[in-house]
Amino acid sequence: MSELLIKNGRVFDPINSINGDIMDIAIKNGKIVDDISLSPDTKVIDASSMIVMPGGVDAHSHIAGSKVNSGRIMCPNDSRSGIEKRTKITRPCSGYTVPNTFAMGYRYAKLGYTTVFEAAIPILHARHTHEEFGDIPIIDKGGLVLFGSNWQVMEAVRENDIEKLAAYIAWGLSASRGYGVKIVNPGGGEAWGFGKNVSGLHDTVPNFDVTPAEIITGLAKANEMLHLPHSIHLHCNLLGKPGNYKTTIETMKLLENIKPSMDRQVVHITHMTFNAWGGTNWGDFESKADAVADYLNQHDHVTVDMGQLIFGNATTMTADGPMQYANARLLATKWTNGDVELEDASGVVPLSYIRKMYIHDIMWAVGLEVALLTKNPWQVLLTTDHPNGGPFVNYPEVIALLMSARKREEEMLKLSNKMRDRTTLSGIERELDWYDIAIKTRASHAKILGLTDHGKGHLGAYADADVTIYHINPDQVDAGREHATVKKAFEKPAYTIKDGEFVVRNGEITATPEGRTFWVNASVPEEDNTRLMKDLRLKFRKYYSINLANYMVQDNYVKHPVVIKAGGS
Ligand SMILES: [Zn+2]
Repeated sequence: MSELLIKNGRVFDPINSINGDIMDIAIKNGKIVDDISLSPDTKVIDASSMIVMPGGVDAHSHIAGSKVNSGRIMCPNDSRSGIEKRTKITRPCSGYTVPNTFAMGYRYAKLGYTTVFEAAIPILHARHTHEEFGDIPIIDKGGLVLFGSNWQVMEAVRENDIEKLAAYIAWGLSASRGYGVKIVNPGGGEAWGFGKNVSGLHDTVPNFDVTPAEIITGLAKANEMLHLPHSIHLHCNLLGKPGNYKTTIETMKLLENIKPSMDRQVVHITHMTFNAWGGTNWGDFESKADAVADYLNQHDHVTVDMGQLIFGNATTMTADGPMQYANARLLATKWTNGDVELEDASGVVPLSYIRKMYIHDIMWAVGLEVALLTKNPWQVLLTTDHPNGGPFVNYPEVIALLMSARKREEEMLKLSNKMRDRTTLSGIERELDWYDIAIKTRASHAKILGLTDHGKGHLGAYADADVTIYHINPDQVDAGREHATVKKAFEKPAYTIKDGEFVVRNGEITATPEGRTFWVNASVPEEDNTRLMKDLRLKFRKYYSINLANYMVQDNYVKHPVVIKAGGS
């Protein structure tokens, strides 16, 4: 029976409204408990003058599966960077934008993160994702499953058969052992199979006679019918195109009247850095983050994440195949596209974000503007959309930028004047505090995923004993002035504790337990399932390259599963 007492830390636990109180955190058998009676076997950590937070949670990152591997294949140069030799307990690491599986787990843990969700799993390739999940040490995982361009989805939406759509989602989550509904450029992935794209929310998808707007609202209704723990998770149409902020706001408006089936948002819109763009072309390109933040300030049915741009190398990867093709043409760089049979598409483009290239400078500002102009800190999550905006190892840089207007000013001196003229960033004085950062790096991620009742993102009794202790004293450090100290502290936590076990001490991995995998098992009425399966059997016979019986991910592919039940009736 292992017991641990973390004494006198300054605790930031927003889900339990604890804002920097000096408290003890007690741990027994891998869970947080109200109290423990000290015995000679109890380990005690003196955390006075240190910050204690729940383990970090990342609701949107690309850590495993076919796209990540396309990125690795395309970037042999990347695997020559970030080399870390094996130690007695760790396996060798390599890579920066697309690190190997071991590095994914160790580096997240070294930043104080204990739970990470992969944001795009095609059902057909889910087995591969789970094989890699099994290889990524320490962190707990889950995955969002692509539904936005699937034939079955578009047909059910066209027939206005939301029950059948819900049955397909339930089946797809079970087939992929996935957690939630991801939608990427709805309709566009399928259109790309015919060399086309959709030009907006109300454009008809070729051959399917449905619009992106209908796909999004249909999936949102089905998502709520199923009472899924997470809302729909959306990569908007026209992402990566100047002027797309109008589509982004129009998309949020579409969903204003949908009632969530639980206490959470109706839609999570991801990587706002690429969605809040004004202008009509690259010449008059500008930020419209203020318009998006204005909308968020008046509506609580939407949450977003930053997808913050980090200057330097990135490997962009997304199910938005046509967008990636456009990117590759624009940048005259190498690219790859993938087609996932009846389900979706994908594209991978390695690139560099360069300072003083005003388009990149403006994109860098957009993510920060959205985070700083949106009043409710719970509404905007800190991400870099790893590795699309940049690798996740740069989160401490983003934290420092959010906490320090001075740091932002210092950074802006290195960027183009057009960035100052075409964004509002230089006029923003807001500086986030430690509580805001705890919200944006763990509490809000767990809340929007529906994981707080499953032990994540907080330090209340019975939560998983995932705890991070940072070497920084909020009484002595003025984050606005001493931003370098802040960045350093978040880069190298004193301790990361996973399920009550020390996995990191002072930046060194000390244990490598295997993580769990969350997935959602949703039930639907038998008659809906029967109608669905009749359709699916036909599709598999006619169009799929594999048999239905070989398609489902078997349980033995899923390491340490945690199955969350959902379902309508
Ligand atoms: Zn993403």
